[in-house]
Amino acid sequence: MTDITFHGGVNDIGGNKFLVEDKGTKVFMDFGMSFSQEGQFFSQFLNARTSNSLNDLFELGILPKIKGLYRRDYAKHMDFDGTEDTEIDAVLLTHAHVDHCAYIPYLRPDIPIYCSEESKLIMQNFDETGSDQYLTLKERFRIHEGKDGTMMRTTGDKVKVPRRIETFESGKEFSIDSIDVKPLPVDHSIPGVHAFILHTSDSTIGNTADLRFHGRHSDDTEKFVETCAESDLDLLLCEGTRVNAAASLTEFDVERKVAQIINDTKGLVICGYPIRDLDRLMSFYIAAKNTNRYLLIDMKQAYLLKLFNESPNLKGQFPSPTDKNIKVYIQRGSWGLIDKDLETFTERQLLQDYGTWQREFLDYPNAVDYRDVQKNQKEYIFYCSDYRLQDLIDVKPSEGASYIRSLTEPFNTEMEIKEDQVKNWFVHFGVINRDEDWHQIHVSGHGDGEQIRHVVKDSHAKSIIPIHTQHDEYHKQWHDNVNSVNQHDLVTI
Ligand SMILES: [Zn+2]
Repeated sequence: MTDITFHGGVNDIGGNKFLVEDKGTKVFMDFGMSFSQEGQFFSQFLNARTSNSLNDLFELGILPKIKGLYRRDYAKHMDFDGTEDTEIDAVLLTHAHVDHCAYIPYLRPDIPIYCSEESKLIMQNFDETGSDQYLTLKERFRIHEGKDGTMMRTTGDKVKVPRRIETFESGKEFSIDSIDVKPLPVDHSIPGVHAFILHTSDSTIGNTADLRFHGRHSDDTEKFVETCAESDLDLLLCEGTRVNAAASLTEFDVERKVAQIINDTKGLVICGYPIRDLDRLMSFYIAAKNTNRYLLIDMKQAYLLKLFNESPNLKGQFPSPTDKNIKVYIQRGSWGLIDKDLETFTERQLLQDYGTWQREFLDYPNAVDYRDVQKNQKEYIFYCSDYRLQDLIDVKPSEGASYIRSLTEPFNTEMEIKEDQVKNWFVHFGVINRDEDWHQIHVSGHGDGEQIRHVVKDSHAKSIIPIHTQHDEYHKQWHDNVNSVNQHDLVTI
């Protein structure tokens, strides 16, 4: 008998947290954040209280109250003290999108996280370029006895605890006690995404993760569907984010259309795309190469490319940050010393103007700052994220510039307001007129209705549970044994 409890990710797009139990083995598939649930209670200025975050998230039904699951420095504020043994054997992570992984930092560090190397590096990038705690937990503080016998409070790097991260290989089966896991790569909008086929002691369960067939790795998704068909699945957890959508462009169309716009642009090309979608970065990189421009990336992307190229397994899959078609944009540091006279300010002070992870890029032969971009606008495709629009003030796009927005279109009011704000920046700098649209060129990471129908029909699973969707009715049209479940429901196979 295998039980699955759906702690999130059903009747909702994201927040996947599926607890699989077999003969005492307990494994979570994903431990993600639900944007819709968080959005019901929290906003930019109203967050869960750090040490008491579990208290807050349990109260609001956002995280399941399970003993032994959470980090001790938070759990001790709950009515369990956090010293109990854990019953959870592992978390299997499909991919490093926040709706699948964002609550990992709340977990106890001794619970192993099984993930692809790509997912590990993306989480490392989150930790090292921001303040996340995916790979390394930092206790809030530790109270201990000092040398002189007085009680002391220790914080910062002294209370770091590395999390147990176990990277798996694509297609290579591994076991977690009674459960055998086969991770299979699928096409999606971030590197390293894996669907799973689980063999428990008496059943076989598939989990599609997030997938599509219109990216650079559609063969992988096809292979996954074939493997499902060969595996005689009792149950397939099948995503349906865009199950109600019609067919769209492919990633290759994005690459082609981007190149066309660049060819038609006399001045600077500015672009925005999801920072960790390296297949999209490839589209812009190839378009840059074909139009004889440099792709000018920010330091966060440069850091991610560096991590990927330092890995013996992943080297060469994506361009290195020193590639001849790439330049790295050195943004103004917090003191803004980049263009100041270094006889007044020392080299050391300039370094201190940047975070530790950023400093090496200052010495890259292909590092440029706003002065180079301002002077040679037609040589660049300038990546400008929605969070760094102030860089436009330094770069000052001149006449003949264009903006390519390669991000999802807004699907709620909050996003519409934010997008309107982004538009104000481009209108201000004369890149577009108020009544004119920018170039919107994007394809989703999720399959449309026709693609999901193919997964539902051709994986030949005995039963289906729709996940990551609010439209179960489509799965029901295509399969005669579809079970809709609600959050916290337990299903026995
Ligand atoms: Zn995803």
